[in-house]
Amino acid sequence: MAVQTVAGNATTAPVDLGPAAALSCRECGERFELGPLFACASCFGPLEVAYDLPTGSPEELRKRIEAGPDNIWRYAPLLPVPADVADKPNLNPGFTKLVKADNLARELGVTGGLYVKDDSGNPTHSFKDRVVAIAVEAARAFGFTTLSCSSTGNLAGAVGAAAARAGLRSCVFIPHDLEQGKVVMAAVYGGELVGIEGNYDDVNRFCSELIGDPLGEGWGFVNVNLRPYYGEGSKTLAYEICEQLGWRLPDQIVIPIASGSQLTKIDKGLQELIKLGLVEDRPYKIFGAQAEGCSPVSAAFKGGHDVVRPQKPNTIAKSLAIGNPADGPYVLDIARRTGGAVEDVTDEQVVDAIKLLARTEGIFGETAGGVTLGVTKKLIEAGVIDPTLTTVVVNTGDGLKTLDAVSATSQATATIKPSLDAFRAAGLGTA
Ligand SMILES: *Cc1c(COP(=O)(O)O)cnc(C)c1O
Ligand SMILES: [Zn+2]
Repeated sequence: MAVQTVAGNATTAPVDLGPAAALSCRECGERFELGPLFACASCFGPLEVAYDLPTGSPEELRKRIEAGPDNIWRYAPLLPVPADVADKPNLNPGFTKLVKADNLARELGVTGGLYVKDDSGNPTHSFKDRVVAIAVEAARAFGFTTLSCSSTGNLAGAVGAAAARAGLRSCVFIPHDLEQGKVVMAAVYGGELVGIEGNYDDVNRFCSELIGDPLGEGWGFVNVNLRPYYGEGSKTLAYEICEQLGWRLPDQIVIPIASGSQLTKIDKGLQELIKLGLVEDRPYKIFGAQAEGCSPVSAAFKGGHDVVRPQKPNTIAKSLAIGNPADGPYVLDIARRTGGAVEDVTDEQVVDAIKLLARTEGIFGETAGGVTLGVTKKLIEAGVIDPTLTTVVVNTGDGLKTLDAVSATSQATATIKPSLDAFRAAGLGTA
């Protein structure tokens, strides 16, 4: 795409992020030029990307998308990325499987169709590759040379890998006590990895300070100063789910909550599909899932509050352990507006749900997946999720990264000598 320059003043070329037109404040609506901004200068509200969306017929756009690559770039006309994004070095995440989970449906008594959107199939085995891929394009556009983030684990790995592919330096920050699988995944790509003595909220505060300091100059923090762009990556989950259902909205969708970004952007993606005429405009319900040991949004929902009171996290679902979720109030709005709910489950229920998904569908989700399925089960049993309607459960990560959650109860059935006698003695032959 041609870059326009103002005659006689060729120093500032406008940023080419495809259909992204501006940043707009979610609170007061004020618009700002595309740049590495994340808070409104007038009211400090969060900024989000505003678009000039395609204007052609829905059929034309649908065909264009379907002819695109088998990854998130098929939706480039709806994302803040340049038109030639697919030609650049990046991890090409997305278009993960939407698994029709008939065994699980039978077990849970769901008759309206139950699906698992399995984002463990992404390049670094979590949904974070989607958001990072978009943030990388913004980092390139704004001339950042170091890619960074505050992470609960998966984001660190996704940033490390994406930076390696894009040829950027990376330096990422995590709470020091994360699961070994996440630490290794974050370190192996060769960037710098810094463990901070504190929880995620401490890491996040530290990163905000670093952004304001000369030490952090030239750094793109994917979930801080690039957050408006980063968030847009989660819209692709909505696009894919609808396309994979045959360009149809699901009736109910269950999504895990850490900062709440993913949930709010899935809703934004669904709204865009409706506006563009790519799916029929009909009601859908969005449900949010948290672990009891970090349930600030669920507590607010159940208490009928608009304000999310911060908590000190204590749960095995570390990827969701954000005690002060930035998008919490927007999650509450969405759950209430769509007629959904936010619920939480205990760590024990998380483990049970991980094993339920593995046993019924052959999908090994991480603890976040256990949270989401655990909440789904709880809400079905409570009569809140309607089993006669189409329901999608989002599994956002891979169980191999959180082995500790199930290792105590998932071991060899028996250990025997290599002989038939020993096998017979163990009682494992034909029933
Ligand atoms: C980051 C993450 C989420 C959700 O994150 P949000 O901050 O709410 O967007 C969900 N699942 C996993 C596995 C994650 O790593
Ligand atoms: Zn504002």
